Amino acid sequence: MPPSKPRRRARPRVAGDRDGRVSRSAPGAPLTYPAARLLQEPPGSTRAHLVAGVTIDPGEGLRLADPIEGRVELMRTNRGLFVRANLTTSLDAECSRCLREIEVPLELKIAEEALPSIDIATGQPVDTSAEPDVMRLSDHHEVELEVPVREAIQLAEPIAPVCDQACPGLCPECGQRRDGGHSHGEEPIDPRLEALRAFRREEDEPGRA
Ligand SMILES: [Zn+2]
Ligand SMILES: [Zn+2]
Repeated sequence: MPPSKPRRRARPRVAGDRDGRVSRSAPGAPLTYPAARLLQEPPGSTRAHLVAGVTIDPGEGLRLADPIEGRVELMRTNRGLFVRANLTTSLDAECSRCLREIEVPLELKIAEEALPSIDIATGQPVDTSAEPDVMRLSDHHEVELEVPVREAIQLAEPIAPVCDQACPGLCPECGQRRDGGHSHGEEPIDPRLEALRAFRREEDEPGRA
């Protein structure tokens, strides 16, 4: 066992399951697509999968506000599969100016080649050491997109989301949202103008009473 855990951003692309077995995916795991048949077809062959109502834990304290929807296309290449995913979802977030709860729509795009872990013809494990960073199909010839999609969500998370580009933010005086017409009657007092204000008031007094 390594002495320390990997840093948050340096996650392995495919994690082992909870009890540490090597199995890479549970059957029926979200965003997992079987490709054994496609791997036996000539290059250029394709499969398309609709993605609808899929929910995953996006990690890093994020929360999905909507399920993941879209389309995954797989194309047989000489070496494996080209995976193209065009997905949408949204995150629960807080406006960085007025702190209202908002939903931030996300567009997720994955376009990347995935190579086999097991040779489809021989059933033997493929030597993956030469290309350790490439996306790999599972031992059961499945495309597993849960981890890449989670990473895409984390990358797409906006740093300072706003409820509206014109959000006026919070009033520095009362802390309420500074909506149109928000006012406290008087402008905040600049101490340098205090003397002048007092002077004007005196001037006004005689005419008023
Ligand atoms: Zn706002
Ligand atoms: Zn105010």
